[in-house]
This record gives sequence, C-alpha cells and structure tokens, in this order.
Amino acid sequence: MRYISTRGEAPSLNFEEVVLTGLARDGGLYVPETWPQLSHEEIRELAGKTYAEAAEIILYPFVEGSISREEFRAMTEKAYGAFSHKAVVPLSQLAENDFLMELYHGPTLAFKDVALQLLGLLYDHLLGKQGKKVTIVGATSGDTGSAAIEACRGRDAVDIFILHPKGRVSDVQRRQMTTVLDGNVHNIAIEGDFDDCQALVKAMFNDHDFRDQLAVSAVNSINWARVMAQIVYYFTTAVSLGGPDRPISFSVPSGNFGDVYAGFCAYKMGLPIEQLIVATNRNDILSRFFNQGSYRKEGVDPTISPSMDIQVSSNFERFLFDLCGRDASAVRGFMQQLDEDGGFEVDLKTLNKVIFAAGACSEEETLATIQKTLAESAKLVDPHTAVGLKVAADCRSDKTVPMVTLSTAHPAKFPAAVEKASGIYPELPAHMQDLFDRPERLDALPNDLETVQNYISGKARILNR
Ligand SMILES: *Cc1c(COP(=O)(O)O)cnc(C)c1O
Repeated sequence: MRYISTRGEAPSLNFEEVVLTGLARDGGLYVPETWPQLSHEEIRELAGKTYAEAAEIILYPFVEGSISREEFRAMTEKAYGAFSHKAVVPLSQLAENDFLMELYHGPTLAFKDVALQLLGLLYDHLLGKQGKKVTIVGATSGDTGSAAIEACRGRDAVDIFILHPKGRVSDVQRRQMTTVLDGNVHNIAIEGDFDDCQALVKAMFNDHDFRDQLAVSAVNSINWARVMAQIVYYFTTAVSLGGPDRPISFSVPSGNFGDVYAGFCAYKMGLPIEQLIVATNRNDILSRFFNQGSYRKEGVDPTISPSMDIQVSSNFERFLFDLCGRDASAVRGFMQQLDEDGGFEVDLKTLNKVIFAAGACSEEETLATIQKTLAESAKLVDPHTAVGLKVAADCRSDKTVPMVTLSTAHPAKFPAAVEKASGIYPELPAHMQDLFDRPERLDALPNDLETVQNYISGKARILNR
C-alpha cells in the first residue's frame, strides 16, 4: 500500500515510512492511496475469529509490502494478548438495541491502548530492521500520553517525550504517565492548554532541521497506524451483532476525530454502517461542523471529559480530503483559511449527511447520563462514554438499528466526576491499586517552542550518546 498526503505536495510513502514519519512534510496527513475492500463474504468470515486474527485479516492490506504476514500475525497476537479481558473489546448490553463497546481493558484503561499496543510493536519491528532510533514527541490531553508511554517504556530504539497541559489532566491520568520511571520516558507539563501542546508538537514537526537531527516521530492520532488499528473493532463489533447483513450504528465520543474517522474508514472498506455519530462535550467544533457546515476555532473550555477538550481536531483533515473528493488543493485552501481566518465553511449539501450525525453534551447532561445509566442498566460509565450515550440518544434515526456507543475509558480513570454523578467511587483495577503511592517524575516548562526544543535536544539519546 502507498500513502499520499492530504495536501498533495509531499512524496507518497510506504507503510514503514508513514509510521516513522507521522506528519507529511507539506503539513498534511498521510492517507492510503486507495481503500482496501472487504466483501460481505469476507466480513461474515470474521465471525468466530479472535480479535488478533480479525486484526490481522482487516489490517494486512495496509501493511503489505513492509511486513510479512507471519511477522504481522505475531504482532497482533502479542499486542492483544496484553489486555485484561480475553475478548479484548467485549460488548455489553444496556437496553434493547443499545450496546456498549468496552474499549478500556488495555494496560492504561482507555481505548488508546488498542492502537498504541500495536504501534509500540510496529516501532520495535521497523526500527530494529533498519538499526535506527527515533525520538517520539507527542501532545496529550490525558489518555494518549499514558498509553503511548506504556507502549514505548524501556524500548532501546525509542525516547519518548510527552507534553501535557499542566493541571488540566486528571490525577490518575497524570500519574499513569509520571510514575513510569524508565530512562527513555520524559514527561513535560506545559503552562497552557491542550491546543498549545499540540501546536508545539506541530511546530517541532515543521522545523525540519530539528526533526531530522532527532528523527522525530509522532504517536499522536495523526499517525496513520493508530487510526488503522482502530478500524478493527468496528468490524468485529458489527459482526457480533449480525453485520454485514444488517447495518449497525456507532456513537463515538470525539476529540481529535481519530476514533470516529476509523469508523468512516471501516465504512469506506465496505462495512454497512447506518449512522456514525460524532459526540462532543461543550467543546463542540465538530458538532457545529456537521450540523452547520462551519468549522471555526473557539477557545477550549475545561470539562469533566478532558480527553475531548479539543478545538482543532487533527484527524479532521483526513476526512475533509475525502469530503472534497480527494482534491488536495481544496484541502490546502481550507487549511489556509483555518490558519488565517480561524475557520472555514463547507456547503452543507457536500456534507455526507448520510452516515454522519453529530451533537454536543453539556456537563449537567454528562452527569445525568452517568446516573441514568447506572439506574437503568446497572452499569457505571465514565464521563466520555456518557457523552457518547447522550448524543446517541439524541441523534439516532432508527430505533430498530443496534446502536453501539464506544466506551472509551474505564470509570476509575475519572473518579471525581463519576462519584459526583453516581455516589459511587470507582476503584482502580488490582494492577493499579498503588498508583497514588508511586513516585512521580516530570518537568514543567513554559509554552515556548525554543525552551521545549532545547529540553528535548538535551535529553534525547540519539544526540547524547
Ligand atoms: C482520546 C479520547 C477520546 C477522543 O478520541 P479521538 O480519537 O481524539 O476523537 C475520547 N474518550 C477518551 C477516553 C479518550 O481518551
């Protein structure tokens, strides 16, 4: 498979190069040149396969040419063997035609493990093969950072630097990052919000000297391998509910648009999906876009679902590329308007309203949904999942179509909000019970590109060994 940039001015790359590069040199994102297709027969045959086997079948066309089938099989088996639930991504039922896809059984209790456990192994394999090292630089609003650190800790070919907005991630989220004391792990608390962190990372990628010297790579959801890995659970879940012979709807708590975009990829690959619901908290740029055709930045408002406190969704550009009929010059135009005018408008008629729907959920509604879900279905959900459930209820068009809400985090990751809503303090699973007793290591830095670059250059082993 070859990959092309959404802005059309960077060279096409193979899978190996795309994983190690992240952002394209023209500022765009890499997308597959074509969408591999799965026939209904091939989708039906996923029934009865393990999650790792399904991942191998669905994803192999994306990696073909860079990794042998046997090597890839070993990676999916290892990545999904690290989950605490044998089904990896089990489904639970809340009501008739109402389901939860439990994506939080990985090592850091959020859905990002599903992709990052595989990405860690891809790095090992691809770098080991080339005898290379990389410096991973990433921004996190909470969950990406811990999942990335968990996937990369102790690996000799990788140094990892994670920027998080100081004081704006939960204590559990911060501790899951800062209590990992491996020498190759560096946590930086930035005086700013998540968008500031993300802007710093983007700027480091656009500084080609810095990027080349340190062999900088991304684990953010801009990395194609992450989106790719997330495609799998749309297929496996649909199959377990009778797909592809009946359409399924999904509601996806969204921030950077990576998870819901993976659902769109599954649709493009041939999975029948009735509705793909983009659920946001009050940071609602995506909801405004799908309802009004206007993509316009506003400030970020901290919420009880902090992993979605984002205004500029980095993966959105990938969707925009398809929406524009894969016209890279149109994407360049929109992105220029976003930079210069703070937003752009798309003709509502060109919006593929057929499968996307979107809505926003207030803080009060989030708390009320946690309480209601516990009362009606005896299930304790985290605030992100609650946003998905609320917007699913608001937006679903056909009650006879199964609605699957992606449960993106374990409630114990956000205990304060869950306790406030339900009166129940969610306990961490056994392997994390001592999280608050472990020592932390992190450095706070100002929101200043040069300071952050100097810090990273001073510590990255690729320069200092
Ligand atoms: C990252 C995250 C999201 C948002 O996912 P995107 O791919 O950024 O849209 C939602 N919920 C949780 C718990 C997350 O960690």
